[in-house]
Amino acid sequence: MNIEDLYLINSFYKLPVKIECGKGPYVYDINGEKYLDFMCGYGVALLGHGHPAIIDAIKSQIEKIITVHSSLYSKVREEFLGTLFNILPSYLNKCFLTNSGSEAIELAFKLVRKFTKKRGIISMLNSYHGKTMGALSLTGKEKYRKAFEPLVPGVKYAEYGNVEDLKNKIDNEVGGVILEPIQGEAGVIIPKEDYLKAVREICDDKNLLLILDEIQTGLGRTGSMFYFEQKYIEPDILCIGKGLAGGLPVGCVITRKEIANSMNIGEHTSTFSASPLVCAVAKKVLEEIHNNKIYLNAKYIGEKFINILNEFCKYNIINEIRGIGLMIAIEFKIDIRNLLLRLLRNHMLTCYTSPNIIRFLPPLNISEKEIKEAYEKIEKTLENYGSN
Ligand SMILES: *Cc1c(COP(=O)(O)O)cnc(C)c1O
Repeated sequence: MNIEDLYLINSFYKLPVKIECGKGPYVYDINGEKYLDFMCGYGVALLGHGHPAIIDAIKSQIEKIITVHSSLYSKVREEFLGTLFNILPSYLNKCFLTNSGSEAIELAFKLVRKFTKKRGIISMLNSYHGKTMGALSLTGKEKYRKAFEPLVPGVKYAEYGNVEDLKNKIDNEVGGVILEPIQGEAGVIIPKEDYLKAVREICDDKNLLLILDEIQTGLGRTGSMFYFEQKYIEPDILCIGKGLAGGLPVGCVITRKEIANSMNIGEHTSTFSASPLVCAVAKKVLEEIHNNKIYLNAKYIGEKFINILNEFCKYNIINEIRGIGLMIAIEFKIDIRNLLLRLLRNHMLTCYTSPNIIRFLPPLNISEKEIKEAYEKIEKTLENYGSN
């Protein structure tokens, strides 16, 4: 038996491959076999593996200092904040760094309660916000929640994309609405053109905070630095995470002063919050994506990739191909776990989302060469499907 299977709590659906290293859009297993990585740790490796700027940032920071508690000031933390708030629109002017996406959601939840003094929050069916108790309470999939109830009370779930259902769920106890602007884990579900704008208007109308979970859609993934920019809406609270620190554990809650100031000193702290190492790398990642406009590459290459993937609609096991930027899914009419294994055999890694959806979250800096390679690997996999 594999040591991981022996000692780790049985909680991940695992693929039979043991990775040793990575370079750019590729990872290598212990036998030196090369895999095209369109999983990227579920969207973490935004700039691919072993990016020289990230390696440099880590190396030079570890030689200075790794840990400076947030009860002290830190030079590199200040530099990171300068970079972050230079990129964000000016109405977003306060943040808190966490150690994961789920923890960012936890704080967003606390901010809603603290600022609005209301217990209720509306989340969306099929949403994914993480698996710690608070984030799990907001996650709109019963199969993840059921065994762990009672969860945090006050959460109601509205149908994603349905404005009327959202309106019907609002009462005097509700202080905020949380959603992913594109549902990731649910299988890259893109709401109708005017939906997010309508949600923003409802929140304005009813005096509710709008929390956008851009942990997956943010940082260039969808062809702009943040997806909300494409929809011309303003979140009250924004959560990001995943690749922000180049693969180091991180999450970040960003909000307005007025909301942030509802918290008293000591009400939300964390040992590792905004550690110098995370700040040094996050600063570099933000600079790379923003200054080099990597998000435009995600838009350009993403469109090309979706275009060529559309050719696969000729296979009758495929239902739909959809995506924005480099957040792309193929929805099948069949269970795809077998296909994932076949793709692995053809040396390609992808994300497992739901039983019939394959999701691609490749690095944002890939070129046409890699999408052609991906196309060929998928083609080969589909072509031989059924023939074993
Ligand atoms: C990954 C993800 C989370 C949870 O982040 P963790 O770092 O796994 O805790 C929350 N929301 C969205 C949209 C995500 O993609």
